[in-house]
Amino acid sequence: MDQQYPSQLLEKAVQEFSKLPGIGRKTALRLVLHLLRQGNEDVSEFAQSIERMRREVKYCRICHNISDTEICPICSDVHRDVHTVCVVENIQDVMAVENTQQYQGLYHVLGGIISPMDGIGPNDIELDSLVDRVEEGTIDEVILALSSTMEGDTTNFYISRKLAHTGVKLSVIARGISVGDELEYTDEVTLGRSILNRTPFGK
Ligand code: ZN
Repeated sequence: MDQQYPSQLLEKAVQEFSKLPGIGRKTALRLVLHLLRQGNEDVSEFAQSIERMRREVKYCRICHNISDTEICPICSDVHRDVHTVCVVENIQDVMAVENTQQYQGLYHVLGGIISPMDGIGPNDIELDSLVDRVEEGTIDEVILALSSTMEGDTTNFYISRKLAHTGVKLSVIARGISVGDELEYTDEVTLGRSILNRTPFGK
């Protein structure tokens, strides 16, 4: 049975924290008690930063990366290679690839991958906007950098079919990443190398 708390306010706060991924009720209680020991101002700042982030954060109109502006800093950086686009599942993956410092091109964040088991189809992710971007004609190469999972493979295949008519060069990151690995957990050196050693898709 769950522990009884001496305060409903405490109970409610613990409940909210334990909704977060990876946070059980024990950890939630520890975090809440930690906040209770902080000054009012610090806690206000903490709460406000979360509210403000949720309210004001935007997604880049071009690549769907998270951004404070309509167009993200990567898409608006004139020094980046606008002819190459790296397709990733989520914004953590953008950060992971950026951390390798081996990639100078742009990104396209799908916001998920095709997963029939979870009811996620092609229309639930940012696929059409990728096709639109490639059809504009500036992009020469699309690098598929999805996780080496069945869902990743399915999505790669689907993208390849949707882009076939454009004639764009399609490559896939080298499988230095072992099968089943999530991109964001791959170390920088391995991920950097798998981008540099990418191979043509389907070969
Ligand atoms: Zn962008």
